[in-house]
Amino acid sequence: MSTRRVAVVGAGVAGAGVAYALRNAPASVTVFERTDRIGGRAATHTAHGYTYDPGANYLKNDDPAVVDLITETLDTEGVIDITEPVWTFTEDGTITSGDRDAHKWNYEGGIAELSRRLFEASNATIVQNTAVTEIDRDDGEWTLVGTQSLGTFDVVVLTPPAPQTASLLATVDWNDDGYRALRSAVATVEYRPIHTVVLGYPFELDVPYYALVNTDRNHEIGWLSREECKPGHVPAGECLLVVQMAPDWSAQRIDDPDASAIDNEVADRTAQLLDDERLRAPNWTDTVTWSHALPDSGVAPDIEPEPRQHVEREGLFLAGDWVTGAGRIHRALGNGMAIGQRISR
Ligand SMILES: Cc1cc2nc3c(=O)[nH]c(=O)nc-3n(C[C@H](O)[C@H](O)[C@H](O)COP(=O)(O)OP(=O)(O)OC[C@H]3O[C@@H](n4cnc5c(N)ncnc54)[C@H](O)[C@@H]3O)c2cc1C
Repeated sequence: MSTRRVAVVGAGVAGAGVAYALRNAPASVTVFERTDRIGGRAATHTAHGYTYDPGANYLKNDDPAVVDLITETLDTEGVIDITEPVWTFTEDGTITSGDRDAHKWNYEGGIAELSRRLFEASNATIVQNTAVTEIDRDDGEWTLVGTQSLGTFDVVVLTPPAPQTASLLATVDWNDDGYRALRSAVATVEYRPIHTVVLGYPFELDVPYYALVNTDRNHEIGWLSREECKPGHVPAGECLLVVQMAPDWSAQRIDDPDASAIDNEVADRTAQLLDDERLRAPNWTDTVTWSHALPDSGVAPDIEPEPRQHVEREGLFLAGDWVTGAGRIHRALGNGMAIGQRISR
């Protein structure tokens, strides 16, 4: 069997899953990533001696195959299971005890370790700081273009969020009914934004939970978690809050260039919710704007099977959380691995 040239666009969890599934296949895999980071929305940042996850917080226990992968198959050093519970709160700030996820998997080095370990176990070449901006199709081959030609491939897998994938699909000059149907289906998938603000404090917070989640979706804060509950993330005696603002609140500020005003507002809301005046004055902050944070509900569970299969036969594949209809790490990873297996058949 001849070696197939496979290009993967995006080094998030889905892209890592594709590369991992192809590790023993006769394929040379090149991954193009727009940013200088691995992990996409399952991201880890480091600053001021802290390690923190401003996107995905942890991996749920929902897919046994993915849990086995993390706890048995891949390198297990530094795997952590957050033990403190997730409590809930409502619009009026009432906090209620409970735990929504029995297991909450992560790494001492942060959630981006998952993608790093998958890529390490694969044979893929990763090309960072390289955005793919155009795709040319010619005689059964695909040429990717960024600021220059990035090479010609037999198979291309697109893993960016649907709106970004739709923009890439729009650059392909392919007069074909099945392709047009697929392109239209992808263009209908919408994402909501989330502003994440990270607040650092030189003192401990004496509360019994790891995180609070807003269940009625009417509060300006959607999620708030304590990064110090992840061993290895925060120096002893300190506190690092990851505050994810609600999609409507975030959408209203998406083009606001005044990050410090946003940080102050978030610190005030946090102090109010936790009834702790000290939280109004963090000693440092970081803000990450996720324009495409989570796919909206109503995404078709598996985009248009017929045109998808038709386009796949020509060597073009789509992967990512939105293909499965849920913004979850295990869904993106499971989908990426399934696509890798389909390519290797
Ligand atoms: C704030 C937030 C909190 C979340 N919390 C959780 C959680 O607790 N648990 C959970 O399971 N899930 C959570 N999620 C969802 C989870 O992060 C995603 O479902 C998952 O990471 C999606 O992975 P992906 O590979 O499909 O996409 P992505 O992670 O978006 O990866 C796509 C990659 O493609 C790159 N890219 C885009 N365009 C181009 C281009 N033109 N050229 C080259 N590269 C490109 C991007 O930079 C990115 O690295 C959260 C997400 C957010 C934003």
